[in-house]
Amino acid sequence: MNFAVDVAIVGAGAAGLAATARAYELGLSCYLLEAKPRIGGRVHTDRESLGVAWDRGAHWLHSADVNPLTKIADALGHAYVARPRAFDGHFHLGTGWATSGEYRAYRKAFDEAEERAVAAGLKGRDIAALDVMDNTSRWARMVDHIFMAISGVPPSDISTADLAAYRDTGANWPLVQGYGALLESLYAGLPVELSTPVTAIDTSGALILIETPRGTVRARSLIVTVSTNVLASGAIRFTPELPPRLQAALQAVPTGHANKVAFRFKRDVFRLPDTSYVNFMDERDAARPACSFQIRPFGHDLAIAYLGGDLAENLERAGEAEMMSFARAALSDMFGADIFRELSGAAATSWTRDPHTLGAYSCARPGHAAERAVLAEPVSERFFLAGEAVSADWYSTVHGAHLTGIAAADQANTYLTRAIAAALRR
Ligand SMILES: Cc1cc2nc3c(=O)[nH]c(=O)nc-3n(C[C@H](O)[C@H](O)[C@H](O)COP(=O)(O)OP(=O)(O)OC[C@H]3O[C@@H](n4cnc5c(N)ncnc54)[C@H](O)[C@@H]3O)c2cc1C
Repeated sequence: MNFAVDVAIVGAGAAGLAATARAYELGLSCYLLEAKPRIGGRVHTDRESLGVAWDRGAHWLHSADVNPLTKIADALGHAYVARPRAFDGHFHLGTGWATSGEYRAYRKAFDEAEERAVAAGLKGRDIAALDVMDNTSRWARMVDHIFMAISGVPPSDISTADLAAYRDTGANWPLVQGYGALLESLYAGLPVELSTPVTAIDTSGALILIETPRGTVRARSLIVTVSTNVLASGAIRFTPELPPRLQAALQAVPTGHANKVAFRFKRDVFRLPDTSYVNFMDERDAARPACSFQIRPFGHDLAIAYLGGDLAENLERAGEAEMMSFARAALSDMFGADIFRELSGAAATSWTRDPHTLGAYSCARPGHAAERAVLAEPVSERFFLAGEAVSADWYSTVHGAHLTGIAAADQANTYLTRAIAAALRR
């Protein structure tokens, strides 16, 4: 890592990988520096823990009908299941399955809550989603859970203007081999310096200096793609410090929380169609949080719990045993405790304590939606941020991160082209 490159890219998640591939396309020399021993970041298809592939992070091609990664999946032969909204499916109320009338009533309650929050945002009222929701509805707990799963934070912390800015087409298609597997195929052969955490960045000199335990990288331009929580944590020391306006924006658009608990069974214990989605809200116990499951994805004998917001954060901090027992209790109530006689493995994620992510996906705080745009501004003429939080309309997604990576590489290229032209004129 001795010579100076045109662009150094920090983080090999969806944004960093796309930025690097684009930079090579443009003929730039690059270093892609990744702290983990693998690529993908918050996109990770786990093939080890349960002996069958499952996505620990991203799973759906969101807004799949217009998502640029859908066409890439087609080109690379990665199949997906075309289906509607992310968590649509069955609904268990603790005492039994919801009737179709109850399911419709719940969907109406969710749609109304979402419409009111989006309408407030579109009118320029940047307030908490909670303030426009009907919190007395029978379905409020389930509606809260889905909002937390979507945004990573409770409705009290969701900005209506941020929510309104998100471009959702309602098509959410899970990838059969996994989202991580798609990125692995797409970027096979892309040079990456794995297990190379960046500890300090000095942008004060003629060349940018990027410190890692393996040595110092020198670069003419820089793209940083780590999550807002990682950037705000001080894990990377900047000289000079990040501008106060950017530091404020990092606080205004924190990384929220989401986690999964996956169980593998020896046979089909659910008797539901493959790739079913099941929601659970126990009406016998108002204090019990609601949650969702993916059941038998693509015919594998798995059940994967989806936890969002406070629930995901609190259970993760309580420990893996607590997470598993929470998810296990919900599955037992829906399908009978006997199904666990057929259990062959279990695994849980911990995205909040993972030092390289410190959370799952970003959400602007109420009153602060406009600060997401600050993240998209160049930090200096040769220093750019990319990543899901930088996307104005597809934040919190893989394709949003992907597009910001490409845009950042284009910006670095424009800077470098101008810098060369200026040097030639001298
Ligand atoms: C549980 C969960 C479910 C999700 N579901 C979906 C979904 O279904 N569909 C969807 O589109 N999105 C989903 N997402 C969100 C999606 O995964 C993210 O928005 C996207 O992957 C973020 O990509 P990124 O490149 O911005 O950041 P990251 O993936 O976080 O990439 C940043 C990279 O930087 C690395 N890094 C951190 N610190 C350093 C350092 N000091 N030096 C070097 N490298 C460093 C990290 O290891 C990481 O690889 C989900 C996320 C989670 C956690």
